[in-house]
Amino acid sequence: MSQHPPDQGADELAHLLRQARRAVVFTGAGISTESGIPDFRSPGGIWTKMMPINFDQFVASAETRRESWRRRFEMEGTWAAVKPNAGHNAVAELVRHGIVSHVVTQNIDNLHQDSGVPEAQVIELHGNTRYAKCLDCGERLEIPYIRGVFDQTGEPPDCPKCDGIVKTATISFGQAMPELEMERAERATLDCDLFLVIGSSLVVYPAAAFPLVAKRNGAKLVILNREGTDHDPYADLVLHSEIGPTMTAAMAALA
Ligand code: NAD
Ligand code: ZN
Repeated sequence: MSQHPPDQGADELAHLLRQARRAVVFTGAGISTESGIPDFRSPGGIWTKMMPINFDQFVASAETRRESWRRRFEMEGTWAAVKPNAGHNAVAELVRHGIVSHVVTQNIDNLHQDSGVPEAQVIELHGNTRYAKCLDCGERLEIPYIRGVFDQTGEPPDCPKCDGIVKTATISFGQAMPELEMERAERATLDCDLFLVIGSSLVVYPAAAFPLVAKRNGAKLVILNREGTDHDPYADLVLHSEIGPTMTAAMAALA
């Protein structure tokens, strides 16, 4: 592992990106804080304010579902207004240049797609909060429709197709990981020779296993995160710095 002051670290990151045949970027909540979305574990983050609702509670209780939807509607102003930041834009540029094959993300905010990464190259391990899905048949439903029904009746709608329970298209604690996305992420991880973690505390499993899978498979591992992670000792390069400025500097060094 080598650790550097931010500027030198960005040069080192640019060097590794230049050498890479095929890189994968793996992001967590940290890449979106500069867009104004709080992460989970930093002081003042979401977890310090609200207990998360787990999947079993959501399925078991109509009152919990109402509470979950009330929370979601409260966030709608935030989700609808957020914009990608310098970190997302740098990642999108790396994808455009063919250096990065896939962006594997734990985020649910759609900001990688908004920054221009093609849908086919984004792998969402924890789903997406910008729309909803039927838990039974997978039918996609839009948030404004659900809100309209909720405002009129005080209840979220059931699935119009099969009467199943409708939930944001996110993966809650206690909910099974999406099989297809896990397979895609594994394939991308095994196919890469550089794995770049950006803004994840690497404590949420199974997502946090991917950097170790990459490393074990012979890829170089880089971790860019403000604070240390348990995976730091396995990394070839660790950057404890701010994401936007570091990625901007790395892109400038790469040009
Ligand atoms: P996390 O909150 O556990 O970790 C984020 C890490 O990013 C922290 O270690 C923090 O120090 C670092 N960080 C924050 N801002 C940074 C910055 N500007 N520069 C450098 N480092 C910065 O997030 P996680 O690892 O993604 O795990 C939490 C779970 O919460 C994920 O599963 C994700 O699904 C979900 N989540 C998503 C969002 C989102 O979609 N934007 C927001 C909050 C939580
Ligand atoms: Zn359905």
